[in-house]
Amino acid sequence: MAIKYEKLIPRFLEYAKQNTRSDENSTTIPSTERQTEFLKKLAEELMEIGMNDVKIRKVDSYLTAELPSNIDYDVPVLGLLSHVDTADFNSENIKPKIVENYDGKSVIKLDEAGKYTLDPAVFASLKNYAGQTLITTSGDTLLGSDDKSGVSEIMTAMEYLINHPEIKHGKVKIGFGPDEEIGTGADHFDVKDFGADFAYTVDGGPVGQLEFETFSAAGLKVHITGKDVHPSGAKGIMVNSMLIASEFQSMLPADEVPEMTEGDQGFYLLCDEQGTIDHTDMSYIIRDFKRDGLEARKNKITEIVKALNEKHGEGTVKIDMKDQYYNMYDIMKDHMDVVRIAEEAMKNLNIEPDEAPVRGGTDGSTISFMGLPTPNLFAGGENMHGRFEYVSEEAMEKAVDVVLEIIRLNSQKK
Ligand SMILES: [Zn+2]
Repeated sequence: MAIKYEKLIPRFLEYAKQNTRSDENSTTIPSTERQTEFLKKLAEELMEIGMNDVKIRKVDSYLTAELPSNIDYDVPVLGLLSHVDTADFNSENIKPKIVENYDGKSVIKLDEAGKYTLDPAVFASLKNYAGQTLITTSGDTLLGSDDKSGVSEIMTAMEYLINHPEIKHGKVKIGFGPDEEIGTGADHFDVKDFGADFAYTVDGGPVGQLEFETFSAAGLKVHITGKDVHPSGAKGIMVNSMLIASEFQSMLPADEVPEMTEGDQGFYLLCDEQGTIDHTDMSYIIRDFKRDGLEARKNKITEIVKALNEKHGEGTVKIDMKDQYYNMYDIMKDHMDVVRIAEEAMKNLNIEPDEAPVRGGTDGSTISFMGLPTPNLFAGGENMHGRFEYVSEEAMEKAVDVVLEIIRLNSQKK
């Protein structure tokens, strides 16, 4: 079978090898310089393939470019977005591995020794990829298909249209941004400057995913101050901040954690904890599909802090709690035409849309609330954010097909 998008996979492999991990604890924007470096390379490539108006914004290194319309009537301006950063997992020296013509049942060794494997008995999704070519990690890093797949797919779709001027299309704006994984990537997004009427993030999982309902989200930092004295004379004086941290965690509902919830259930997730007797810092994420559900969870935190400070002394527990994004359906419900175009594109390509609410969020959640309706399309990856991440070539090709079909549908004379 002829390869439809020659550069799609080489492009992805090259992008994947570049370390673009973001850093939640950084105070710079973007959070890591390596993201800006990568965005600069992408800007060069966009110019090489012939995109117009390639710009990197100073404030956050957000990269945008334009594919001008080649039709003589107006259609809505379509935006396509993805993010360049990768999740909080080792991303040094990523060595993507290719498994050609996977049989859908074998156990794939990731590292030489076989300590880490992709086993269909554990990861049932592997069975869906019989006959396809998989790209996996070598066991010690993530792959970064989230979201280098999306970047490669958008780049390839643009190149395809530029190389096929006989395909008629309206104006397309594209954007590649930093820091999605730490929830701040879209904070400085400029809807007006971007100039699209509607957009999609190409940042979803397996083929068919079409997401327009997300969590509402808050981030929480907890700072607990103890008092460290020599154990010999500690009675009545020592305050062990780590024990108060345990107390804090024990006051949260034990079953409202990611590993015990699914569907429309929310959770509290303790992501990080660093402690000494003197001081303990904890990081949580709080998630709920409903806005009032998120508020109720935040109130619960405030009550726990109050109770612990009453018990251990005012100022023992301090928190910093911030809303991160809201369920994009609150906006999308008034813009379902944007979802319908994506559904139609998938159906035209014999892809069944999977519209399950996403137990996460995307830059599109934030951007939708800024006034640009932005649902999320699949980019193809599986098992995101860790060493078991993989993506198939065929899934990535389908993502490019869907993007091109959406552009085609949007470009029809109304
Ligand atoms: Zn992503």
